Amino acid sequence: MNANLLQTPIDYLKGVGPNRAELLRKEMGIHTYQDLINFFPNRYLDKTRFYKVKELLPSNAEVQIIGKIVGFKTVEQKRGKRLVADFIDDTGRMELVWFRGHKWIRENLKVNTPYVIFGKTNNYGGIFSMAHPDMELLEEHEKSLRTAMQPIYPSSEKLTNKGITNRVVNKLMQQLFIETRGRFFDTLSEDIKGNLSLISRADALFNVHFPKSQELLAKAQFRLKFEELFYIQMQLLIKNMMQKQKIKGFVFDKIGHYFDDFYKNHLPFELTGAQKRVIKEIRSDLGSGAQLNRLLQGDVGSGKTIVALMCMLIALDNDFQACLMAPTEILATQHFQGLKELCEGLDINIALLTGSVKTARRRVIHEQLEDGTLNILIGTHALLEDKVKFQNLGLAIIDEQHRFGVAQRAKLWHKNHLPPHILVMTATPIPRTLAMSLYGDLDVSVIDELPPGRQPIKTVHRYDSNRLKVFRFIKDEIQKGRQIYIVYPLIQESEKMDYKDLMDGYESIAREFPMPDYQISIVHGQMKPADKDYEMERFVKGETQIMVATTVIEVGVNVPNASVMIIESAERFGLSQLHQLRGRVGRGAEQSYCILMTSHKLSEEGKTRLQTMTATNDGFEIAEVDLKLRGPGDLMGTQQSGILNLKIADIVKDNQILKVARDFAKRVLSEDPELKMEKNKMIRYTYQQLAKHKNIWNYIS
Ligand code: ADP
Ligand code: MG
Repeated sequence: MNANLLQTPIDYLKGVGPNRAELLRKEMGIHTYQDLINFFPNRYLDKTRFYKVKELLPSNAEVQIIGKIVGFKTVEQKRGKRLVADFIDDTGRMELVWFRGHKWIRENLKVNTPYVIFGKTNNYGGIFSMAHPDMELLEEHEKSLRTAMQPIYPSSEKLTNKGITNRVVNKLMQQLFIETRGRFFDTLSEDIKGNLSLISRADALFNVHFPKSQELLAKAQFRLKFEELFYIQMQLLIKNMMQKQKIKGFVFDKIGHYFDDFYKNHLPFELTGAQKRVIKEIRSDLGSGAQLNRLLQGDVGSGKTIVALMCMLIALDNDFQACLMAPTEILATQHFQGLKELCEGLDINIALLTGSVKTARRRVIHEQLEDGTLNILIGTHALLEDKVKFQNLGLAIIDEQHRFGVAQRAKLWHKNHLPPHILVMTATPIPRTLAMSLYGDLDVSVIDELPPGRQPIKTVHRYDSNRLKVFRFIKDEIQKGRQIYIVYPLIQESEKMDYKDLMDGYESIAREFPMPDYQISIVHGQMKPADKDYEMERFVKGETQIMVATTVIEVGVNVPNASVMIIESAERFGLSQLHQLRGRVGRGAEQSYCILMTSHKLSEEGKTRLQTMTATNDGFEIAEVDLKLRGPGDLMGTQQSGILNLKIADIVKDNQILKVARDFAKRVLSEDPELKMEKNKMIRYTYQQLAKHKNIWNYIS
């Protein structure tokens, strides 16, 4: 059918007046015929059979019955009245009950006329009843386009109140199929359809809205989910291809003095196999002539920092500058100190730029960046300020990528006349399925191996009532020369209220661990940076044994001698945060522990989180559970989840289909990158339509 017809404004559909059109637009985002056809039911009621009243069982969930109303009565009850109708069929009698809308029901429902009713039944004192049943005259029921599986569309209270009930949506859908005669172009090639035995698009659309059977419904859903995921993958793969083709990158073809000297003379430890592999992958990208756009995933403690440094050294070897951006001041400072140490004896000028760097020092940094005497700049998002100009930035690295938005990543692109190579690193493992959808435009490297000699962290869950035992354990560990973190949740670093927990906690710890035997550091977001640094420094140097902190220490902080992480009110943290926090320990050779403290009040989800944490140290496994608990939107923040506004597929539940879709998208593009082949005509056309109406990357001309 004509694609233009599908672009017809919804106002023109018979049965949709200006009011309904407005509601559909505002409440459901339905502007055109196309939007309506793509408005999918989120569940179905099985109406394959009719029950007789005599057959009803107390265990029946939802049933469909044919019968008639023979009379009404109003029953007074404590709160308001209820309207009760006597309802009979040829086998028995039951009651229909309404708590609202009495007047309308009395005026509109017909007595002694056959109806089809549908709903949940209850049984009080041997009498079956149904509250607020779905009702339709038998006569109309027989006339309408009837299917066994009745679709239930997503709705809102507002829509229902204004009369756009499920039945109305159903009617509009029928009308749409009448006006378009149910003829819809296919959007996939015969090749793909044949390979996967997919039904046609027209059949799929019909059966998803008016399923003829369970089996056809399943086929329809598979076909539509596949299509949706397939085109998302096409978009991502094409974007990735475009970047490689069109976005020229600086060619770093030299491996020179800096890299060699460091590798031969300054490497503090043998690299793990995974680190070596990843460096190789990045090196080959850097020399390829295309811009590097790579995501480096590695669990906490897997050693991403040294990889970052070695990549920066390659940039330096090719006469470029490099920068590394971290999400917090503490982390940036720590990177700076660590990298400076590693670079000792290498004749590299490296500087730190954060919000608290003084103006005079800042000026020096700006000058040196512009005249090229500064080789490596480490910092927070202060790096993104317009005043920060590089002479020749060749590589930008972003640590803990999930803390930054896409916009910030984009801003780095413009720090040079040509976009620099971009490497983003994250310790928050992204489940493979999600990574495919969110970062399908990035190449991915994974460090899946921890440095040798690490012992798995032992994680336990303890109730607050066991606190004294936990304190004794802490004392023993301190006795052995270890250091301890105690972390308190702060939902909003800016909210004063939350500090009460932290301060109360600090005081009770200070009582339990008195000076001079014990020294305690405290760090939180409302402290001045200088004070934070001072406290952090004392802990790093081992002058204090206990660090009381909020989640500001969550990312990156590295104190190998710290071997115990206590997380207070652990039920208030999300899984990825718990995993990040736990990653602060287990960095040395000693056995490390993570103790999750909670009260006895735990939600089901809270319990699942704690069980997951005590069961595994594997960040990817944890990420998969997190994805299931929270869903993709929440997990990645709204900014990055836009692409996941799926109409019918579900990234988590349908990840099998996602994999198939990605494989097929890859197969199509590797055979026919510009979709010029005759057999891919429909794919090409559909992709162009998507590009036209949705602003995706228009690459195929
Ligand atoms: P993350 O990936 O969490 O950023 P880091 O780069 O901070 O991890 O490394 C964690 C710790 O492991 C650091 O103390 C680092 O010096 C050490 N490390 C990294 N790679 C190795 C290795 N190959 N062998 C031994 N220790 C290593
Ligand atoms: Mg790190």
